[in-house]
Amino acid sequence: MVSDGDAGDAIEMLRRASRTGTQLSGGLIIDRERVSELTNDLIVSQRNNIESSKGSDNESARAEGVAEKNMSEQTTAESKRESKHESKIESTLGPEITGIQIGSGQAAQCASLDEHRAQICECQKCPLGATRTKFVYGVGSPTADLMFVGEAPGKNEDLQGEPFVGRGGQLLDKILGAIKLTRSEVYIANILKCRPPGNRDPQPEEMEHCFPYLKEQIAIVKPKLICSLGRISAQALLQTKLPLGKMRNQWHFYQGIPLRVTYHPAALLRNPNFKRGCWEDMQVVEAEYKRLTS
Ligand code: SF4
Repeated sequence: MVSDGDAGDAIEMLRRASRTGTQLSGGLIIDRERVSELTNDLIVSQRNNIESSKGSDNESARAEGVAEKNMSEQTTAESKRESKHESKIESTLGPEITGIQIGSGQAAQCASLDEHRAQICECQKCPLGATRTKFVYGVGSPTADLMFVGEAPGKNEDLQGEPFVGRGGQLLDKILGAIKLTRSEVYIANILKCRPPGNRDPQPEEMEHCFPYLKEQIAIVKPKLICSLGRISAQALLQTKLPLGKMRNQWHFYQGIPLRVTYHPAALLRNPNFKRGCWEDMQVVEAEYKRLTS
């Protein structure tokens, strides 16, 4: 096959020969008609080369397209497989915890809860520090295997400086009694250490500042089991926006610690219909607590 460059040169040489008297560089003499025939042959040959080259380009493009399509289908299949696997994890264990993003507190550097409390009790990191009556740290056994986490101090807690006092606290004591435990055998703390005015929900920036303290408390106590009391506590610990109903009735994990979600005692006071569900949750907590501590 004549290359495009060679054919082009030959055509030009033949045309020049045709114009100038038909003597070519090698001394070959041919007539004008033969020059014209040769020129046409070379033009046809050059066109064939171009068509063949286009065909080859098209083949390559088609091959690349097929390869891309295959890769795309493979990637989609892989991502579907991963997504299926993740939703399987989520349906059995709840959202996989890869690190709490609320607050950036490091694991506790303090050896004891008393030391930790002394370090943070004057905190003014968020506006609630200016409006609190008392800082509400936590209560119970510093080596408890079971830890309860609520949302924030209310009016009575703010006055007394202890979590879960007043009617909600009395109900929590009854719940503990139902699973044969007392307040001094477990540990109880809140996400926030200061009372939000009017018992409103904690603001995201308040949680962001205060959550590291709870994280440090958990690191010091090292519970084997955590029970979240209410939606806000569970959402913060599990780093999710799921409603309470979607978090109950399944096991979750906070940094490897099994976690169960139930109603906040204040919600039980507002709606006694929730008590049955809470009782069922606590039976599961009791069974797991016994299994982990026996
Ligand atoms: S709520 Fe927490 S972050 Fe805000 S002032 Fe009180 S202890 Fe500090």
